[in-house]
Amino acid sequence: MNDPLPSPTVPFADPAADHQAFTDELLAAAGRVIRSGRYILGPEVEAFERELAEACGVGHAVGMSSGTDALLAMLAGAGVGPGDEVVTSPFSFFATAGAILRAGARPVFADVDAATLNLDPAAALAKVGPRTRAVLVVHIFGRCLPTAALEAECRARGIALLEDAAQAIGAVGPDGRLVGTRTTAAALSFFPTKNLGGLGDGGAVLTEDAAFAATMRRLRVHGADRKNHHPDVGGNFRLDALQAALLRVKLPRLPAWTAARRRAAARYHTGLRGLGLGLPPEDPGCVWNQFVVRVPEGRDRTLAGLARAGVASEIYYPTPLHLQPALRALGHGPGELPVAERACAEVLALPLHPSLDDRSIDRVIAALRDVVGGR
Ligand SMILES: *Cc1c(COP(=O)(O)O)cnc(C)c1O
Repeated sequence: MNDPLPSPTVPFADPAADHQAFTDELLAAAGRVIRSGRYILGPEVEAFERELAEACGVGHAVGMSSGTDALLAMLAGAGVGPGDEVVTSPFSFFATAGAILRAGARPVFADVDAATLNLDPAAALAKVGPRTRAVLVVHIFGRCLPTAALEAECRARGIALLEDAAQAIGAVGPDGRLVGTRTTAAALSFFPTKNLGGLGDGGAVLTEDAAFAATMRRLRVHGADRKNHHPDVGGNFRLDALQAALLRVKLPRLPAWTAARRRAAARYHTGLRGLGLGLPPEDPGCVWNQFVVRVPEGRDRTLAGLARAGVASEIYYPTPLHLQPALRALGHGPGELPVAERACAEVLALPLHPSLDDRSIDRVIAALRDVVGGR
């Protein structure tokens, strides 16, 4: 039996604390929706979509029921279906691969860059073939990967370049451009621990292409272009009015929260040097959804040691997507994507959220020094 652990003194995420200063505004927004009688799509969702597009510096934002459904709609909208291949990263949350499979296509994994853990663009280009219908990049932990080479290749082949930006709202790439502005489209998630978290599930698709945005609006209502007329199948991928109203209260606070995440990441960088841990590269455009270190040896013992010291940490991600049991039929085996596989054995995500104060960060650093130093 495991030793019972005290609830962590430094929580991994703390959405309730993030909301504390403006709970009244959230309650007022919820009350407005409750009294309105409009609970699905409608004016709150439309207003949120306008404000989100503006905040993201992109032409169109379409609200979706989750980041997962945003990915699925985006793939379908890009024409991905049975017989197609989609080149993507093996180092991501399961939804990235799950959405490709649900679209009826085959995920083709290229290995990641050892430093950033983002898809290696050269490796991805090498996997593009005659059946490739789209490339789906993942901006893992809030860091944009350089997409210029992939943009050129996808344009030349007439295929879509799509972004899983679930962890990367507001992130800026090496070319100085925001997510959703340089590709066919980008999917966002409003899962509560994402940088812009709802009080429940939600997501969005960002795009500069008005026709693609119209396709997203159609696919989220069972492919209907008007009442009872369905050119496509689509699904129920709608964002609730209640979530939209709550997200409208939170959206103006996102820049301050991103700044807080960047300050916390900088404090970790300073405090964790010289411990033999692999630190994530510094990057001014990164929005730090997670601060993930590499523990070359004894990662799981390190996690347990932190827990004993009252510090919550998590493993994102313990298993690369190509080795997930649900993908067994694709016939992958260990050793195929060594960089991603090694990362899965070494990564450890530390607490990082807008309510994390300097004292808590210093506690995490001190605990990690103790655990790693005493190993
Ligand atoms: C959270 C996440 C998703 C899924 O978003 P949901 O809103 O939870 O459906 C997809 N991809 C990545 C990389 C994520 O982190």
